[in-house]
Amino acid sequence: MMSPKITLLPLGAADLRLLEWLKEPLKERLGCEFGISSPLSLPKSAFSPQRSQYNSRIILNWLRSDQFSPPLLAVAQVDLYSPGLNFVFGEAELRGDVAIISLARLNPGFYHLSPDELLLKERALKEATHELGHLFGLRHCPNAGCVMHFSNTLADTDQKNSLFCDQCGRRLKALLQKL
Ligand SMILES: [Zn+2]
Ligand SMILES: [Zn+2]
Repeated sequence: MMSPKITLLPLGAADLRLLEWLKEPLKERLGCEFGISSPLSLPKSAFSPQRSQYNSRIILNWLRSDQFSPPLLAVAQVDLYSPGLNFVFGEAELRGDVAIISLARLNPGFYHLSPDELLLKERALKEATHELGHLFGLRHCPNAGCVMHFSNTLADTDQKNSLFCDQCGRRLKALLQKL
């Protein structure tokens, strides 16, 4: 079994300390090595002036182009949406090459609450682990405590754990062995 090395790609004005911090707990959860690439600007074509948000589908398509080597998790500060949804915390290709998360709505400041670095880190870890789970082929889990449970709201994110439940953990191992 050869675990892939996953690139964390900061998009825009990225919080590099947070990305650096993510490497270790992500490695513990996924069993893969992580590297951080140099920050890049977001593609202008992904911005919707009407919504003041970026379209995560367009960003994922751009990340699929030749200039990047997968697997790849992009970390954006800006707010993301996906067609048909008001916003998304993240999006990933199921069993694919590219995934993205946004830190915008994970930050208490987004809701005019005082900064809470620990809470932001925990939420970022949950969303990153969740999208990487999809990237390796895991689907949503009915267990509300599992990191693969769907987060419709931030309350869902805060309620769930940053770990895979036993069943998802076993599935993930099997999926990684098939790579
Ligand atoms: Zn999901
Ligand atoms: Zn699960």
